[in-house]
Amino acid sequence: MLLTDRFGRRIEYLRLSVTDRCDLRCAYCMPSDFSGYEEPEHWLSFDEIERLVGLFARFGLRRVRLTGGEPLMRNGLARLAGRIKAIPGVEDLSLSTNGTQLRKHGQALRDAGVDRLNVSLDTLQPARFTEITRRDALADVLAGLATAREIGFAPIKINMVWLAGVNDDELEAMVDFCRQGKFILRLIETMPMGETGRQSQYASLQPLIASLKAKFGLIDGLIPGGGPARYLISPDGLFSLGFITPMSQHFCATCNRVRLTVDGILHLCLGQEDRLDLRSLMRSGESDESILAAIQASIDRKPERHEFSERPEKIIRVMSSTGG
Ligand code: SAM
Ligand code: SF4
Repeated sequence: MLLTDRFGRRIEYLRLSVTDRCDLRCAYCMPSDFSGYEEPEHWLSFDEIERLVGLFARFGLRRVRLTGGEPLMRNGLARLAGRIKAIPGVEDLSLSTNGTQLRKHGQALRDAGVDRLNVSLDTLQPARFTEITRRDALADVLAGLATAREIGFAPIKINMVWLAGVNDDELEAMVDFCRQGKFILRLIETMPMGETGRQSQYASLQPLIASLKAKFGLIDGLIPGGGPARYLISPDGLFSLGFITPMSQHFCATCNRVRLTVDGILHLCLGQEDRLDLRSLMRSGESDESILAAIQASIDRKPERHEFSERPEKIIRVMSSTGG
């Protein structure tokens, strides 16, 4: 049995937010004075998470990404990672992190079976890092990245949110840094998630893509990962740069994912409100079969696409609550 929605999209990827807390306050993501955290009694326990991922896996789920908030803020994350990786059918377990605690937890996560890492890094300049994230933590992130590379995570992708007038002069420096560290660099357009997302300095990546193609002869390429990034590569294959363009060229037609938040809500689309409360179903004693039926029915309601451009005011939840 597979999960396929009414538009023929096969859902095989779960983004699992294990906490809505974070040790950074990136300006495009989380308000500096954010206080709308989920009550701890609403957090899914590891047993509940394992049960749900197991149910999804019966429907053909193959990939899970741990995210947040900052997933390393959740106690025992490596233990949870090990339990998820042991679920039959889960072939690929990855982690999105801001990297501040990778030095401490990287090895345990690797041992638990985390295959791939995405690390957020928008700048290499300490003062600018503090301005964007409202925390003085660049040195921790760089140390975390060095540890991750030594441990042998592969690939390690660096996600750089492209912010007009803030870090858009740093492409060359980031490319050099990533080439030296053997990281894959990806640029991301900001989305209007919550007030913070709407106030961010959005710029379309299309002009940059066109100019890089023309200037360096880069061509379209593919790097495995199951995600929506489009890559430009050099003809000799030695250089690659990814672009995630949810705004200027959305990829909803090939969307293969749903999101589960720490409070057990299944979000069917990042840019819509359609959801299923799996926590209530589990805590009211519903059977596996009844939860499976509810999941299947919800997938049928997965919206065709987001409306970030037409209705940017629509989504009031911030990215750190939903799981990017
Ligand atoms: N804390 C982890 C991190 O920063 O990688 C994981 C969670 S974070 C919400 C996941 C991703 O969402 C990050 O790469 C972050 O840059 C991105 N993100 C947050 N707010 C965004 C926004 N408004 N538009 C686009 N990307 C955003
Ligand atoms: Fe935290 Fe990640 Fe959001 Fe930055 S992008 S505030 S690190 S959850």
